[in-house]
Amino acid sequence: MNLMTKEKPYNTLNAFYRNKFGKKVFKIALNGNFTCPNKDGKSGYGGCIYCSELGSGDFAGNKESSLKDQFNQVKELMHNKWDDGLYIAYFQANTNTYDTVARLRYLYETALSLDDKIIGLSIGTRCDALNTEIYDLLSELNKRTYLQIELGLQSIHDKTSVFINRGHSLACFDRAVKELRKRNIEVVVHIINGFHIETKQEMLETVEHLNTLGIQGIKIHLLHVMKNTKLGNMYLKEPFKMLTLKEYVDITVSQIEILNPNIIIHRLTGDSPTDLLIVPEWSRKKFVIMNEIDKTLRSKNSYQGINYIKK
Ligand code: SF4
Repeated sequence: MNLMTKEKPYNTLNAFYRNKFGKKVFKIALNGNFTCPNKDGKSGYGGCIYCSELGSGDFAGNKESSLKDQFNQVKELMHNKWDDGLYIAYFQANTNTYDTVARLRYLYETALSLDDKIIGLSIGTRCDALNTEIYDLLSELNKRTYLQIELGLQSIHDKTSVFINRGHSLACFDRAVKELRKRNIEVVVHIINGFHIETKQEMLETVEHLNTLGIQGIKIHLLHVMKNTKLGNMYLKEPFKMLTLKEYVDITVSQIEILNPNIIIHRLTGDSPTDLLIVPEWSRKKFVIMNEIDKTLRSKNSYQGINYIKK
């Protein structure tokens, strides 16, 4: 699918949704009060070193509120601006397939029934919180609604997996993608640029690997060091090298250039609550980052996939 436009030399999520549904589509983050196998001991303790108290769902709803209240709160804000928009219920915080199939079914069905403008589900999870029963449930949902599964990977490199305490292997991730794709389920993968132990070449290798898996979407995040996280404490004790804006743009542009032109780019940077951010200071200006990426691609007449090599 080529959704590149004059304004954006890469496939944006906005263009993808408009093309697919004919309208503006918003993802509304809901909090299903899940935990994570990397925190409770199933796969690890303590979680990923950058994980916030809210399970990297700092913009998700309040877990104490019902899904209906969470949804209505956000819908009200969106509705004022885009009254004919459609919605995707997005289970974002923690690991949103980490429960019994019965509870998962209840939560997903409840979310789908919250509003007749909800056209699908997006579920953020990890490869070690999926099994045959859950794949079957997802497959069933995929046949009657629009479904995206968002899988965290961050990096293909073992040294990074150990450094961030990810708690699962690349083989586990690859298997999960294979199982989901076998059932024709859309897969969106999260990666992070900016671990000081990785080179630019290594960050490009992560994208090269994803190109071989038949995924549909990618979220490229910038590493944020936040207060009240292990990474934050590590940084405050002994600061390590963070990417400059120029370096981030250079790496991300190169990743876009080698990315399979069929993949939709859901994100090109990241968000962190402003009061919790330690570094990088420049990450507060999200629009500057986006503009710099677009400007750099345009200045060299470049675009998504210009250097893509099919393997
Ligand atoms: S997988 Fe997500 S929720 Fe679990 S520890 Fe890592 S960042 Fe936090």
